[in-house]
Amino acid sequence: MTEQAGVRETGGSELAPDWLAYPTNANELTPKLWAHDVERGEGGQLTVAGVSVSELKARFGSPLYVVSEADFRTRARDFKDAFDAAFADICGGVDVDYAGKSFLCTEIARWVDSEGLRLDTCSGGELAVAARAGLDGDRLGLHGNNKSDAEINRALEMKLGRIVVDSLAELDRVAAIAAGRGERARVLLRLTPGVHAHTHEFIATAHEDQKFGLSMSADDGVSAAEQAVATAAGYASIDLLGLHCHIGSQIFEPEGFELAAERLLTFLDAMQRKYALLLPELDLGGGYGIAYTAADTPRPAADIANAMAAVVRATCQRLDLAAPRISIEPGRAIVGSTTFTLYEVGTLKTVNVELEGGQVTRPRRYVSVDGGMSDNARPVLYDADYSAVLAGRASAAAPALSRVVGKHCESGDIVVRDVYLPGDVVAGDLLAVPGTGAYCWALASNYNYVPRPPVVAVRDGAARLMVRGETEDDLLARDLGA
Ligand SMILES: *Cc1c(COP(=O)(O)O)cnc(C)c1O
Repeated sequence: MTEQAGVRETGGSELAPDWLAYPTNANELTPKLWAHDVERGEGGQLTVAGVSVSELKARFGSPLYVVSEADFRTRARDFKDAFDAAFADICGGVDVDYAGKSFLCTEIARWVDSEGLRLDTCSGGELAVAARAGLDGDRLGLHGNNKSDAEINRALEMKLGRIVVDSLAELDRVAAIAAGRGERARVLLRLTPGVHAHTHEFIATAHEDQKFGLSMSADDGVSAAEQAVATAAGYASIDLLGLHCHIGSQIFEPEGFELAAERLLTFLDAMQRKYALLLPELDLGGGYGIAYTAADTPRPAADIANAMAAVVRATCQRLDLAAPRISIEPGRAIVGSTTFTLYEVGTLKTVNVELEGGQVTRPRRYVSVDGGMSDNARPVLYDADYSAVLAGRASAAAPALSRVVGKHCESGDIVVRDVYLPGDVVAGDLLAVPGTGAYCWALASNYNYVPRPPVVAVRDGAARLMVRGETEDDLLARDLGA
């Protein structure tokens, strides 16, 4: 990011956002956006773990989600190791629960398990995936602000390690269902510490105006959080393990996590004293950010881990509190950068866009691909930015400001809002969009009766189908024609 405010480097477009630098070499890959084993091979073609995108396209078609298995395993391990190291002297390490909602299939559940992480779910369907993958219930958690009786029963049936209770009413329901089964439910209470983190900053307010969790605010006397602790402690069918919070997603700076940790530890200490309880666990949630474009600068896991450990250590010392066992729940930070989506380019057009004042125009190139908002809803849902590269070949052509768009019947169907792609991109070229591991396949839809793409895992020079793509028969399977 060498660009100065208001100054465009040679060739850059005035239509581009300030954060988008004009590339000196559009073939270059920005390492932080990609799996570690993605590189340009022969002919400038993108390869992952030694497998070329043209081979992937020939075998599996496009669009295609391409996951690097080694990269997933490495990121999972690195997260666990970084937090274990930072918290070793505080609570003997950290339990890492992969947030399955970010991207889950049976094979990924098994990768998570074999790397020593546990798995968080938030629906009966996600529990079904975990069960099919053969995971031990002990290593699973269940979230959700509106769990059904069937989901609570299933969690108890599977002997889940943790049910994260979200409200007083749900606490009563879990207690009653567990009592009816003659079992004890292992429970964490989800609290809202009044810290909400946006992408680049966090705000701390007294109340949290959102649907999740038990309020810690005691403005009206006893807080909902305290009522829940006292009530849970009184239920014979509840084994109250501790407290939980989750302050947001795609967070880059540690301050929000630090403040939440301090507030929860202080509350945990007060509850232990007041109710003569032991709350052995504290889950600080997920939300660690990743880079979607070159302008994003996430901190390494070790930096965040060390910052959080320092706060936990200091707070426990101040309160003379024996530290609870800490757990965290990263989703995006583990899977996000492991995956890219491979598309084929179709229709191209260039429009001339008026600059402010209306006298001058600048070209914007629309590059249509064979997927779009059905395989990546995040640009539409969250205004999320992505990047893209020409994947099937290198090019010496001058980069042109481009907008990658999908094939759906919406003008908002944007895959990458602003990116410089080589000016010679033509129909039939392959494009790769990195950072599509989290919340893309998971949020995919059949809008316009477009089948959901397959998911391929690549490792050691071999690619295999993890989830097959949908067929027209799949699309029509539930249409009874009645
Ligand atoms: C979504 C979610 C996560 C994971 O969030 P990421 O941003 O993917 O790390 C963790 N915990 C809870 C409770 C969540 O809802």
